[in-house]
Amino acid sequence: MPIVIDGRKISEDIKAEIAQEVNALKNDGKRVPHLAIIIVGDDAPSHTYVKGKINACKTVGFEYTLLHFADSISEEKLAKHITKLNEDDDIDGFIVQIPLPDHISVERVNEMISPAKDVDGFTNQNFGSITSTHHLLLPATPFGIMELLNRYEIETKGKECVVVGASRLVGAPVSLMMLQDGLATVTVCHEHTVDLTKHTRQADILIVAVGKPNLITKEMVKENVVIIDVGTTRVEDETKKSGFRLSGDVDYENVAPLTSHITPVPGGVGPMTIASLLLNTLKAYEARKI
Ligand code: NAP
Repeated sequence: MPIVIDGRKISEDIKAEIAQEVNALKNDGKRVPHLAIIIVGDDAPSHTYVKGKINACKTVGFEYTLLHFADSISEEKLAKHITKLNEDDDIDGFIVQIPLPDHISVERVNEMISPAKDVDGFTNQNFGSITSTHHLLLPATPFGIMELLNRYEIETKGKECVVVGASRLVGAPVSLMMLQDGLATVTVCHEHTVDLTKHTRQADILIVAVGKPNLITKEMVKENVVIIDVGTTRVEDETKKSGFRLSGDVDYENVAPLTSHITPVPGGVGPMTIASLLLNTLKAYEARKI
């Protein structure tokens, strides 16, 4: 039987640890960390994620500010709000929820954010710090994946780690982290990889971040593999009140029995992304010493 990696439980543990630190700050008469969130437009999943982030702030006792702008906001206007947050002494960290409308460049927006307040860990400076021994604010989802592996005491040193997906958001940074901190031998696969199965079958640890339900089937893995499934895709499901359910990239039902550890979707990596955001906000707060 595989061990199902319980991201919800680990994220609750992390939130309880952060809440204790916030209480200690309050008892000392200090101000508490303050996270701001910018959301543009009315994308339903984005609003659900933002609601989760605000609830998490409430749980741990952080202050929060939500800035919601219409789809039509120009990049210049958004830039002014970002500059204001960069300069606001009351704000320790902030994020700009993606996706953004097509007329706004995510890359340019990321680079407008002060690295000291970039609690999603998207700026070049924070991303680059993955490869240094002094990590700054690490990209939230990969940071959450590393935390899961650590807290489940999964050995990564010297293991064959195969990452499927090479995006700047997940695949690329988690590959670097598995190399730098995990000391694993890392292979990164992407859409142009010729024989995906040849690679995935080598994996002791398989991290999948693609967004294609059931991409990974039982023929593609070896026994006792550890699987981290980052994929989160809405698929129609008439049995659900919402009309959809979330699906990972792994054919969970048939693959899970072969694994030693596996993350479910939902309830695996997702909650850890929020926990990492809180940890980064606390780190940004501590670094400012105001
Ligand atoms: P993305 O930017 O679309 O990147 C997908 C990656 O998968 C790309 O590198 C792409 O290759 C690769 N790919 C596409 N088809 C492939 C195939 N058939 N075989 C191998 N690789 C393939 O997506 P993302 O932002 O990284 O997100 C990936 C998934 O993770 C999505 O489902 C997203 O919702 C989920 N996610 C979840 C969380 C969370 O907190 N749970 C956070 C972030 C993302 P190329 O580079 O060659 O295009």
